[in-house]
Order: sequence, then C-alpha cells, then structure tokens
Amino acid sequence: MADRSRRCLIPTALDGDPGQTHLSVYGWEDRLSSWVAYSTSICGRSVHDAGLDLGDAATCPKCEDLRAGYEAVFAKEGEASPVADRVAARKDPRYAAALAEIRAFGWPAGNPMVPGSWADTLATRVMVAVRSAEGA
Ligand SMILES: [Zn+2]
Repeated sequence: MADRSRRCLIPTALDGDPGQTHLSVYGWEDRLSSWVAYSTSICGRSVHDAGLDLGDAATCPKCEDLRAGYEAVFAKEGEASPVADRVAARKDPRYAAALAEIRAFGWPAGNPMVPGSWADTLATRVMVAVRSAEGA
C-alpha cells in the first residue's frame, strides 16, 4: 500500500505457533515511520509473526467472524470526500475546536486515542459531515 491513510487486515500467527493463523490490522504508524501489523489480533490474541507465508485466510474462526466488520470500516475510511469539501472543512472556524477535542482524548494508559495525523483526518471528516448535514 502506498496510501498511508489506508489500513487492511493481514494474517498473523502466535509466537512459536504458525499452525493457527489470525488477522491483525496493518497500517502506517507515524511514530515509527513504518508500516506495521498490530501485535494483537482482532480476536484479542497476542501475535508475533506477520507475514507473507501465512496465506490469506485465517484459521481462527473468531478472526474470520470479525473480518467482514473490519473490512467494512476500512472501506468506509477509504471513501474520501471531494478535496474542495475537505479544504473548506479545515477553514471552518469550528475546525480547530474539533481537532483540539479529538487530540485531548486519550486511552487509560495516557496515549492519544487518535494519534498523529489521524486526528487531523478525523477532525476533517467530522467537519465535512457536519457541514454536509447543515447543507453547506
Ligand atoms: Zn484469531
């Protein structure tokens, strides 16, 4: 993938147990400047090996059950509004407040819930939706 705003699922395996294949979210990580697979599978297991030799299908039934929901979210994330709408949303006087509110929201451990440039992306999407609802 070249588009750093896109995410997908990739097969992962438990450390030392390549026999069962799970699915983990794969995406761009600003802090590492790298594409990474999450170390937790979507079924909640701690996974280690991400990779190419695992095939496409998960053998974990829970991961397969959850796959469609994740892929629906990722497809929706990929729907970009017109550039003009996004530019207008960022110029909206309420944009800064929306962005500040998103940046202020953290996980219990203290790390931001919406890290890095994702906060800008989310604030922009929210403002585009609000302006659309208002008929702007
Ligand atoms: Zn699983």
